[in-house]
Amino acid sequence: MNYFSFLLVIFLVAHSGSSIARDSICYGSTKKGKLEYGVKLPDKGTNFISYGSFPELSNRTYVHNKVKDIIVRAYNNLASTRPDSVYKYAETGFKQGGHFPPHITHQNGLSVDFMVPVKNHNNVSTYFPTTQSNRYGYNVEFDKHGKYKNYSIDFEALAAHIVTLDKVAKNHGVQLWRVLFSPDLQDNLYKTSYGNYLKNNVIIPKKESWVRHDEHYHVDFSLKCEKL
Ligand SMILES: [Zn+2]
Repeated sequence: MNYFSFLLVIFLVAHSGSSIARDSICYGSTKKGKLEYGVKLPDKGTNFISYGSFPELSNRTYVHNKVKDIIVRAYNNLASTRPDSVYKYAETGFKQGGHFPPHITHQNGLSVDFMVPVKNHNNVSTYFPTTQSNRYGYNVEFDKHGKYKNYSIDFEALAAHIVTLDKVAKNHGVQLWRVLFSPDLQDNLYKTSYGNYLKNNVIIPKKESWVRHDEHYHVDFSLKCEKL
């Protein structure tokens, strides 16, 4: 074996089993788009978990790699700033983006649904159940006070998450385009200690969406994408 072959063998061994990471490429808009080199969100971390292994196995938790980095970093920051709060994410999109029923958007790796953080009847942060029987959480209806059975929305934890996402995104040179959350619940967010920051930095439209965003909030990230 000559020296060049030796180096080649070393290179191949070092890279076997792992593809070389590269940036995702988003195309078009969240409503009509696609994604290349999409990456899967981790199924769980110290303070977060996905909404279910079946949708994960159905490849419904892919995003742009920059979005993944922001989401994971934000969760890590929250693990320090709010160690008693736990979070759950939900639908994001397919690895190649494109039509993602039943959603209208979620087409180019930049849209992410998060389940509302909740507290149980003992006032302890917990995950509300997301199973096939409640359409992985999407069939759950919270009332206008943020209550569902023994669960109540933890608005302070929710606001902290949005603010942390916004700050981490800006550190990555990315903006939050908008956060969709039911208008009848928004006052509860603005009453938290993060109210002023949210008013001044984050767009949360007052208009009703085609679905009521009570059990989840939808975040669109703003990245420059290629033309479709
Ligand atoms: Zn959504």
